[in-house]
This record gives sequence, C-alpha cells and structure tokens, in this order.
Amino acid sequence: MKIITTIKEMHEYSADCRRNGKSIGFVPTMGALHEGHLSLIRASDAENDITIVSIFVNPTQFGANEDLDKYPRTLDRDTELSAESGADVIFAPTAAEMYGANYATYINVESLTQGLCGKSRPTHFRGVTTVVAKLFNIVSPRRAYFGQKDAQQLAVISKMVADLNMSVEIIPCPIVRELDGLAMSSRNMYLTPAEREQATILYEALTAAQILITAGETDAAIIKEKIASILNTKNLATIDYVEIVDFATFHEIETIKPPTLIALAVKFGNTRLIDNLIINEVQKP
Ligand code: AMP
Repeated sequence: MKIITTIKEMHEYSADCRRNGKSIGFVPTMGALHEGHLSLIRASDAENDITIVSIFVNPTQFGANEDLDKYPRTLDRDTELSAESGADVIFAPTAAEMYGANYATYINVESLTQGLCGKSRPTHFRGVTTVVAKLFNIVSPRRAYFGQKDAQQLAVISKMVADLNMSVEIIPCPIVRELDGLAMSSRNMYLTPAEREQATILYEALTAAQILITAGETDAAIIKEKIASILNTKNLATIDYVEIVDFATFHEIETIKPPTLIALAVKFGNTRLIDNLIINEVQKP
C-alpha cells in the first residue's frame, strides 16, 4: 500500500496512471473507517484499475463549536482496512498541505444547501464542496464514490460536478447499517452505552415511515408526526430536524411524490446522528 502525503506526489502518481491508461476510482473520507467506507472502496476496486482513498479531516467543513479536535484519527488501522478492501493508495495530506497560507477560494453550491444539514451547519457544505473539488483536482479520478448515508452531500456534490463541468462520474452507494439498524458512522463511537442503545430509534422511525407509505399514506405532515413521535419515545434523543423533501430540489413537500427524501438529524448529548430514506415509488391506489 502506497501512502502519499503531498499534493505534488499525488499529481505525479495520478498523471502516471493516466499515461498508462489506468482508470482511477476515488473514495474521499475523513478516516476512522468502518464497513460503510469499506463498501465504497470495494465498489471502486470492482470498477477501476486503481483505487485511491483520501483520509483528511477537513477543517473547513466543521463549525466553530463542532468536533474537529476530537474527531477520531486512526491512520494505521485505516491503511490496513483500506488495503484489505482493495485500495492501492492512501492520500493523507496535512491541513497545512491542503490549505496553504492565505487560502482564499471556496465553492458554494447555492441551491440544495439551505435546508436540512445546511440549516443546522451553515458553513458545512461550503467546506465539503471546496475540499472535494480540491481533491478531484489533485487525484483526477474517473469515478468517485459517495455514500447515500449523506444524501444531501451526495446531491450537492453531484450538482457541483454538473455545474462546473468536472469530468468525474459520481457513484452513489447504499447505506451500510449495524445489525440493529443503526447507520454506520465514525461518530457512533462517541455514544455512551445508553445512547448507543437508544440510537437505533432513527432507523425504527424511518422503518415506520416506510410502512405507512407502503400502506398508502402520502401526507408528509402525518408521516413527519409519526417519525417525531417515535423519536420522542427516547429520553436521550433531541430532534434537530425531521424533513421530507423533493429529492431533486430539496424543497419541502406536502405530499409524497417520488423521488422523495425523508431525512433525520437527532442529537444524543453532543453527538449528532443523521439517517435517511429515499422513496422511489409509492403504492398505487
Ligand atoms: P466520512 O468519512 O464520514 O466523511 O464519509 C466518507 C464517505 O463514506 C461519504 O461518502 C459517506 O457518505 C460514506 N459513508 C459514511 N458512512 C456510511 C454508511 N454507513 N454507509 C455508506 N456510506 C457511508
């Protein structure tokens, strides 16, 4: 496994791959890898000659009072897991390497970023799109793999790629869950045992919503109320948002009309968890 830490070396490696006709699949991460990340690495390995995984805890996507300093950093283990899953190269730059002195350029996707996580974390998506654009320029991948766990992020990045004519194909990958339904996340390790036990409520609430929709319910207010009432059965859970939006525009909708995104953010203490459900079809009457 090759570990690259400088932009110069990554540029050279990627240019070599292209000269030799090798396709690059790219998996951007913040490390502390789990099965969710590894599923993206495996998907890339299956479709590309070379798979590059970036591990970079990107400071510009964290708000002032968020968990940048305590975010888990486990590079040795991440390298081992990436290799086992089919990665060829780890790109692990420092923050100083990525954002030199007097850094001044940011990318802002103006639609899609106002609601949901953009409302609770106003500078988050600007940081995500900026770092992903920089990583695309550094790695020059043919394909890049993103999890539907972060459905809004996936939509925002796809919009950036389309609007800025970037020549990379964005490949969405399904949410990977723990056996009890909790969506895997590097932040799950912050949860106390009691919070971890209650955290399955996000998936339980989404499952109840799916059952209602399958039974023919299309009123978004009724579905939201059901989700909130289930989340509120857990005393350690505080709802940040429960939203039902058109998956193309991210505008709030009153009636389920696929493709629809049902998205949740729930706090357990200082740990904020997100999960979602994409509705691609509704029951015909
Ligand atoms: P992160 O390291 O949290 O920035 O995530 C890196 C990538 O892994 C993003 O594309 C995430 O959507 C994806 N990812 C994180 N958790 C999961 C999961 N449980 N299932 C699928 N993909 C995931």
